[in-house]
Amino acid sequence: MPTQNRWRNCAKCQSLFFNGHAGVPGVCPRDGGGHVATGYDFTLTHTEFPFVRVQRDWYTCWYCQVLYYAGHPDRPGRPGEDGACPARPGRGHTHGVARTFRLMTGLGDGSHMQSNWRNCRNCQALFFAGSDRRGSCPSGGSHEGHLDDPDTLDFCLAYPMNPRITVTRVEPVISVLGDSFTPDGQVHISWKIVGENGTLEKRSDTVHCFREGDFRYTFHAQGRWDFLTVRAWDVTSDTPTLVRSVLSPARLDLESAPTRSVADGAHR
Ligand SMILES: [Zn+2]
Ligand SMILES: [Zn+2]
Ligand SMILES: [Zn+2]
Repeated sequence: MPTQNRWRNCAKCQSLFFNGHAGVPGVCPRDGGGHVATGYDFTLTHTEFPFVRVQRDWYTCWYCQVLYYAGHPDRPGRPGEDGACPARPGRGHTHGVARTFRLMTGLGDGSHMQSNWRNCRNCQALFFAGSDRRGSCPSGGSHEGHLDDPDTLDFCLAYPMNPRITVTRVEPVISVLGDSFTPDGQVHISWKIVGENGTLEKRSDTVHCFREGDFRYTFHAQGRWDFLTVRAWDVTSDTPTLVRSVLSPARLDLESAPTRSVADGAHR
């Protein structure tokens, strides 16, 4: 598998962790509980791109679920262990099935790209250094050692979210299926039914996405009407994207076209 998403920033420790094992949110050094996902749904890759500097040897820790760097010498006396693991005091991170990731560096912030991710010199986790909230390092205190050192790598993570909705009708029920929204996020929906003499009915609502970033929402459209519009707005994302769909019973077809929000002009 060339890529893997559901990599999230932990709101408590600022590490990057894998949130894709249902019900297994890893172990957070802040309090020994699970990590708490916040922000984007990042995608990691095994691929190398032309003209982009990458660093290899990043792995998922089998025990705590953080992404850590295994390219330094192992912990003394602990073959196969690196840094410090919050799930096993006194031990290092280790990985099970070998899946190595390659991180891009030096690209800065951009469309669907967040920089200022750093390698903690104490615990070897990848952590976000761009937040006011100080993280928690399993070695004690906050993750550290990078902001003052211009030679350390500034890693960039991609979040290729691509929200879409599909609107279908099975008389009189209208179904709105969304996918590729922020996992576990909130989506605002507004719909409007229009007839000969203007708007017949309209409403706004909020729905919760599943952890895969999809949702299903239904409403009724009864009687005669000409067309209806549905808008969905990903309010959890830091780059909110509006998608819109129009359904017309006269043509019995639909258009579904992602449209760009003001805040997200470079969305593909
Ligand atoms: Zn955490
Ligand atoms: Zn670990
Ligand atoms: Zn650390």
